Amino acid sequence: MRYGCATGKVVRFGCLGLEQSRCPWYTEDMIKISSEAELLSTFRPIDREEVILTDKITFPILLTDYVAWVEPSGHRVYLVFQDPSERGGAAWGVVFKRSQGPGDTMQMCQWCHSVRGGRSVSLLTAAVTPKNRIGVHVCSDLSCKDKVLGLPGVNDLREPYSRFEKLFKVLYRMSDFVRYSLLERNSGAVRQAAKSTRPVH
Ligand SMILES: [Zn+2]
Repeated sequence: MRYGCATGKVVRFGCLGLEQSRCPWYTEDMIKISSEAELLSTFRPIDREEVILTDKITFPILLTDYVAWVEPSGHRVYLVFQDPSERGGAAWGVVFKRSQGPGDTMQMCQWCHSVRGGRSVSLLTAAVTPKNRIGVHVCSDLSCKDKVLGLPGVNDLREPYSRFEKLFKVLYRMSDFVRYSLLERNSGAVRQAAKSTRPVH
C-alpha cells in the first residue's frame, strides 16, 4: 500500500526518508515509532495478538498522520494514527475486520467523505469488548489520505476545505471513533456527557 504526500512524491507509510530538516512533514509533534514492540504498544491489549505486520513496514516510522496496511488475506485492516486531540502526540492502533461491501452500490466513506462503488467502501468493525464490536463505513483499505490529498472523485462530497484541512478532519474522525466508540463504551462511561463537550468535525 502506498500513500501520496505533500511533495507529490510517493512514499510508504508517511515517511519520505529525508533528513528531518528537509522533510516538509516534519514537526515537533511527529511521533517516532522505532521498533515492532513500540508499534504493538499503540494497540489495545484486546487487539494486540491479532496484529500481523508486513515486510513493507520499516522502522523507524515517523508518524505525522497515519499508517494503514491490509493483512495478506484481506480480512483485517490495521490503522495507527496520531491523535490530533493530544498535542505532543499520542498514537493509537486499531485492528479492523473487513466485511465485503454491497458490490457496485455507491457509498460514502465516513472519514474522508469520498464516494465510491465497487467495494471501495466497506464496513470495518473493531472490538469494543471480546463479545462486542462496532463498525464504521470507510475506505476498504483506509486509503482516505490518498483521497483527500489527490484529485476529488466526481461523486465525492464537496467541502470548502483545503486538502490538508481535510486530512486533519480525517484524523479527528479517527480519534472520535477510538475515543467515543471504542474506549468510552468499553469503560462504561456515560456517552452523553462526552457528547456535550466533544468538538464537532
Ligand atoms: Zn475514506
